[in-house]
Amino acid sequence: IEDFFQCFQISCQGATSITTFAIFLCDKIEPALHKAVFERTAKDIAEDMQGKFPDFRGNRANLEVSILRYLAEQENFEYFKQYLTSPKEFFQSYIERRVKSHCLDESRRLEKFLDSSLNLLYGNILSAVSLSTQIVKDKKDREDKISLWLDEFCRELAEVINLPRSELKGIEHQEVTDIEFLSSAMKTALGDLRDRLKKELADADLSSFSRQPHTILAEHFSGCWEKCRFCGAVCSNTMQNHDGDHQVVFHRPQALTGFKWHGTDHFIIDICSSLVASDCTFRFHDDQQWTPYKKYRDAGPPVSTWNILPDSSMQAYWKWFVSNFRTQLEALYNKKFQGKGEIPVAWQRITKQEALSELERR
Ligand SMILES: [Zn+2]
Ligand SMILES: [Zn+2]
Repeated sequence: IEDFFQCFQISCQGATSITTFAIFLCDKIEPALHKAVFERTAKDIAEDMQGKFPDFRGNRANLEVSILRYLAEQENFEYFKQYLTSPKEFFQSYIERRVKSHCLDESRRLEKFLDSSLNLLYGNILSAVSLSTQIVKDKKDREDKISLWLDEFCRELAEVINLPRSELKGIEHQEVTDIEFLSSAMKTALGDLRDRLKKELADADLSSFSRQPHTILAEHFSGCWEKCRFCGAVCSNTMQNHDGDHQVVFHRPQALTGFKWHGTDHFIIDICSSLVASDCTFRFHDDQQWTPYKKYRDAGPPVSTWNILPDSSMQAYWKWFVSNFRTQLEALYNKKFQGKGEIPVAWQRITKQEALSELERR
């Protein structure tokens, strides 16, 4: 009986120390796993949206068409104002809103995305436990089994979660010889960890992400955000800080930025690319020299950093916009669509549908 009691005590101590080890290790895994779940989910959501929505599949020009369509559908001048003054911010908030509605509608996709990331990572950790156990259990002559096991375990997980081996130095001297038992203790502790995280994830929202899905998605549409000094159209170059001049296919009526004909309060409804072929001159402030549009680069930066090719084609969209929001534009800039800035009758006949169809044909 005494022998039995002694044996039982030893095995009990061994079991306790292995269980303690497993719990300690899972405490180390928890924050790393938590972080990995959110990082993975953010990428998954961004990818899912690119796969499901044509607006997010193409380039920025493509997304801009969707945004212009959205603005036309909303017909809210405030939104237009935000888009025209801060296009980059508007793109970002548009993407954010779309991500929100995709993730948080009645299908509760966010929870599903998080769950599937958790299950996948949990599965990876479980296989790392099995693999490390396989490798180490046969090394009968080694006394530092636990240290070897941790080496293997961290190596297996290197691509999955951030669990630096160096942070586990404190537990590697544990006297653990029964590696098989360690393996089963780890599986139990990991199961508890998964259940705990699963409960926590049920309350997650988009603010729980340190890097939100819309930020990742928006990166696909980065590029140059320089605005034409005359009309506010955004440079279409897909590189930030690109070489060469800024350029855009379609300039807009200068009334959109409040430009007026000198000596009047009449808007300029012409586009920059028409004016550079004209004999008109311009100046930005009263203290500046007049510069002929034909030599617009002489005015120095920022206009000198733009390549504005003579082209009289104006998008129907902006003709529709100016006609439709004439009163609001007049109030915003305290100027009038009169004289040389009178809105042509042909513009007023353009329907929203015609304006949108032309955009989509582009
Ligand atoms: Zn322009
Ligand atoms: Zn540019």
